[in-house]
Order: sequence, then structure tokens, then C-alpha cells
Amino acid sequence: MRSWPQPHVPELPGRAPALSVIDTRTGERVSVQGADARLYVCGITPYDATHLGHAFTYVVFDMLVRTWKDAGLNVNYAQNITDIDDPLFERAEETGVNWRELADSQIELFRTDMDTLSVLPPDNWVPVSDILDPLEKSVRELLDEGRAYGLTGEDGRTDYYLETTDADYASEHLSRFDLINVFRENGGDPDRPGKKHPLDPIVWKGAVGDDFRAEGAKAGAWRPGWHIECALIGRDYLGDTIDIQGGGADLVFPHQEMSLMHMDDFHPQVQVRGQMNTGMVAYEGHKMSKSLGNLVLVSKLLQRGFEPMVIRLALLGHAWHSDWEYTDEDLGRAERRLTRWRRAHHTGGAGARQLLEDVRVRLADNLDTPGALDVIDAWAEENEYSDDREGAALFKDMCQALLGVHF
Ligand SMILES: [Zn+2]
Repeated sequence: MRSWPQPHVPELPGRAPALSVIDTRTGERVSVQGADARLYVCGITPYDATHLGHAFTYVVFDMLVRTWKDAGLNVNYAQNITDIDDPLFERAEETGVNWRELADSQIELFRTDMDTLSVLPPDNWVPVSDILDPLEKSVRELLDEGRAYGLTGEDGRTDYYLETTDADYASEHLSRFDLINVFRENGGDPDRPGKKHPLDPIVWKGAVGDDFRAEGAKAGAWRPGWHIECALIGRDYLGDTIDIQGGGADLVFPHQEMSLMHMDDFHPQVQVRGQMNTGMVAYEGHKMSKSLGNLVLVSKLLQRGFEPMVIRLALLGHAWHSDWEYTDEDLGRAERRLTRWRRAHHTGGAGARQLLEDVRVRLADNLDTPGALDVIDAWAEENEYSDDREGAALFKDMCQALLGVHF
């Protein structure tokens, strides 16, 4: 799908040290090996885009891409759009809007917000509606191979499930989850009679007879499984090695774990080397969610007159792996910071070459954006009136290239 315009990324002198990040699943450091970096990030379901939680996630992965590119790596970045899914159908029904129109309008809003926040677009931005044929083919293969099974409901529709075992859920990092409950709370159906294992994930919902996409079915009568979608896109667009699988922390289980399971099924040699899960953003004491009505939308903040770069700096002020609570003070702090940096650009500039290296060191260390911003603040204060035009120009380029902040 057409994404959004590529923001300008100025060339910088020298090169960043290799980045290592802490893998959510193992707690160990991972870094790219070789000259190519491949990133898969779980994209939006287009019905409540773009709140600050989404913006935080996609700005974090934008920072990852920028840091990789600064280290000289070739980056291939794929992201899906779950534009056929239950929450979307439910929202459409509630509001009386055609689900396709709802999805398209929300995708457009997301596209505009990402462009406004200077996020680098993915190389492959893939809506699920574009890959229904290969998805159906994959599900039929699973059935042929006896690794999936169907359960037919009273309405005559059949849902297909991947067959799993206890061993599939034995990883150490899953021990902190009450798996059945988390699965149930996230759209899973562990209690359905007839399932071979309560955690078996759905791979296709709502087939009629042999027709996976029954004609005349109302919107939402059928749909592919969410987890298998990401596995298929990852395999088809990135190949055998995926350096980082990314998404919000709420996707660790079941979504990303089950995607990994599918990936293993498709292609046992596909290797996912690390996983990054961004912290959850809360507002007024709770995780932002449509159901609680506590969403802070990027588009609303822009309407209130906040500069896009202030919003971006507010997001960069938080460590990617930490949960945080948004308050308007985040924007106040970011506004003061941007003013300080602008002043340093107008009247300062000395020592910018060393600053560039210091910022690179911060980012290379587990993508420490708050640390990078602090280093710049200290430099801006120290060199406020140094009047070095060449340094000032380098400072401006660095902010734009490495942080996506332009002024
Ligand atoms: Zn996903």
C-alpha cells in the first residue's frame, strides 16, 4: 500500500557504533550481524488511530531504523495493517459506517500523523486485505498437512485452528503470564468445546463449506486469523532472517508468540533474532484505550496548536521499554527543550562534532533516547553563545537525521 512521503535524512560525517538492544523475550542484548537489518513491526487495526500509544511505538521503531541507517546498514522494514478484524467490524456496526470506509479513513489519518511526526515509512506497508489469497493458501496447506482442524458452529460456519501443545508455551518468558486468561482477554476462545488445546489460535474464521470467503456474507462473517497474518507478511517480505520483531508490550502474548509459532510452521529456518516491545502509555491512571475513552490523539494535539516536533520530542523523552503516563507536562517539557535547542542553533554550535559522537553512543546503547536528549540539553546550555556557524549547521542536521527532529 502507498505509505507516506519519506522525510529528508541529511548525511552526517562518520558512522555510528553498532547498536545493541535488549530482547524482550530473553533479556539478552541483540545486534544485527552483517550489512542488512530486517525489521517487522505489528501495525495498526485501523479503528482508533493514532493515539499517543501508537505514536510512541512507531516513533520508537523509526528511531531504530534511523540508528541502524546511521551505522551504515541496509534496512528492510515491513509493517502490516490489520484492516480485516473484529474490533473494526464492531466499531463500524456501532457507528453505522461501512467497515471499509472506516478502515480507509483511519489508515489515511494514520498516514497523515506519521508524516507529520517525521516517521520514516516502512519499505513494505501491507494491508491484510491484499494478502487474502496467500493466507487462504497457507491455511489450506496447514489443513492438508493435518496441523490445523475445523470446528463448525450452529450457524454452519467453520473456524479453523492451529493445533498446538503444552510444549509450545513452555518458554521461560511466558511464565509471568496467566496464559489462558490473557488469551481470553485478548480475543482468544480457550473455553470453546471441541478445541484440542485451549490455546490453539484461530487461523481462519467463518468458512462455509469449502468456501473460505463465502459470497454474500455480511462484513465480519469471515476473516483470517490475526497471528498468521503477521507471520506470513514477515516471511514473504523479509525472508529467512528477521532481526527484530516489534510491537507494543500488549502484543507479547498471545499475538507475537503465536506469530512466531506460525512462522516456525511456515518455514522452520526463519529466524527471529530479537523482539522489542514498547512500553504502554497511560493517561489519567489507565492504559490508553478506546473502551475507557482516555485516548489522547495526535491529531487532537495538533489541533490544539502543539508543534509536531514538540509531540515527537515528548515521545522521545521516554525509554522505549518503559510504561509511562502521559500528562500535558510532557509537552511543556518538550516545548522548553525545543526552544533551548533552537537558541543553541542560532547562537551556539561549538563542539557539535563531539556532540554527534556522544549522541550516537547513547543511541547505540539500547536506543537510549532520553539519554541522547539529556546529552544535547547539556551541550546546548554549555555552548549557547559560542557562535560556531559550521557546528550549528551540523547540530541541525544531526537532530534531523538521528532524532527526526527538524527546526
Ligand atoms: Zn503482528
